[in-house]
Amino acid sequence: MENGPVGLHEPLFLDRESEYLSECLKTREVSSTGRFISEMENRLREITGCAGAILVGNGTVGLQVSLTAAGVGQGHEVLVPALTFVAAANAVVHCGATPHLVDVSEENLGVDAVRLEEYLAENCDLTENGARNRSTGRVIRALLVVHTFGHPPDMDALAQICRNWNMVMVEDGAEALGSTCRGRHCCTTGLVGIVSFNGNKIITTGGGGAVLTMDPQLATELRDLISTARIPHRWEIAHTTAAFNFRLPNLNAALGMAQLDRFEKILDVKRRLAAEYESHFSGYVGLKFLKEPEYARSNYWLNALILDREMASQRDEVLEKTNDSGFGTRPAWIPMHFLPMYSSVPRMDLRVTEDMAARIVNLPSGPGILWEK
Ligand SMILES: *Cc1c(COP(=O)(O)O)cnc(C)c1O
Repeated sequence: MENGPVGLHEPLFLDRESEYLSECLKTREVSSTGRFISEMENRLREITGCAGAILVGNGTVGLQVSLTAAGVGQGHEVLVPALTFVAAANAVVHCGATPHLVDVSEENLGVDAVRLEEYLAENCDLTENGARNRSTGRVIRALLVVHTFGHPPDMDALAQICRNWNMVMVEDGAEALGSTCRGRHCCTTGLVGIVSFNGNKIITTGGGGAVLTMDPQLATELRDLISTARIPHRWEIAHTTAAFNFRLPNLNAALGMAQLDRFEKILDVKRRLAAEYESHFSGYVGLKFLKEPEYARSNYWLNALILDREMASQRDEVLEKTNDSGFGTRPAWIPMHFLPMYSSVPRMDLRVTEDMAARIVNLPSGPGILWEK
C-alpha cells in the first residue's frame, strides 16, 4: 500500500509496450494490417492449442460471432449462467435469441452440470437441433459455458450434456486465458469460444478479444464474418455476405503482444498472489478463499473470498472499509434475473446464484501487486 490505492485488476505496462507501440506509429501500421495482429494470433494458438485464433474488437462481439457461427439465431434459446457478466446474455439477444438462465455450482461458480442435467430431463424434449423447452416451445440450441474468475467448470460433464441434448457448446473464457481443465485449455472443448483483453483482464489490448476454435474450417468462416467478408484482391472491393467489422487494430495488438511476451511470468505471479491470499485468509473465521477445482489449473484472474452465510449481512461493510482504505475490493455481479431486461426470461431455480452473489468479495488481483523486475 506504500504506492497508494490498489485497484481491482490494474494492468502492468513495461518498456516493451512503448517499443511496440512506437513501431506501429513509425510504420504507420496502426489499423487493420501489421505484424502484431498475426503474431498475437499465432501466440494465442500456441498458448491454447487452438487451430484458429482471430482477434476481435472486444469479448462481447466475439461472443456474438461465436454464437452466430454456432447456428444460434431468431427463435432459439441459449443456456447462460445467471451469475456472470451481462455480456453473455446480451450477446445472445444480439443474435436474435433468448437467454435461458441456469444456476451455478458453489465449488467453481460455473454452470452446475448435475442440476442442469436434471432440469433438462424434467423440462425439455430431445430434438435434432437441441433441447425443446416444453413451456416456451423454443429450441435450446446452445450452452454458453463461463470460466468464472478464471476457474474452469467441470468441462467433461458439461460436454456430455451437450452431446446428450444435441446442443452446441460455446465457451466464454473472457477471464480464463491460461486456465486449463484436465490439461485442456479453455475454449478447446466447445465448438468455439472467446477470451477478452479488456483493461481489467489478465492481459489487455486496451479493449479487445479473440475468438478461438479447434475447427480450422470454422476459423476461416469466423475470420470472414468479422472482416466484412471481403474477397481478397489487390484492388477490387467485393464482399460475399452482410458481415461485421469486428477486427482488432494492430495498435491494440502491439500492446497485447508485449504482455504475451511475458505471459508465463504473469501466470506465475498470479498464482503466487493467490497462494499468499490463501495462506493469509486461512487464519480467518467466517470466510474462505475460493480455490481452483482439483481437476483444473486456474489463471486466478480474480481472487475471491466467500463469506460464510452468517457473515453475508456484513459484506457491504467489508467492501466499504476495504475501499475506504484504498483496497479496491468488489462484489460479484448482480444476478442476471435481477436486471430489468432479464427479469422475465426462462430460468431454472437460481438459489445458488442468489446465495453466492450475496457472499462473494473479489480482491485486488493485478500482476503488478507482486511483480519483481
Ligand atoms: C470481460 C468479460 C466479457 C466481455 O469482454 P469485453 O472484452 O469486455 O467485451 C464477457 N464475459 C465475461 C465473463 C467477462 O468477464
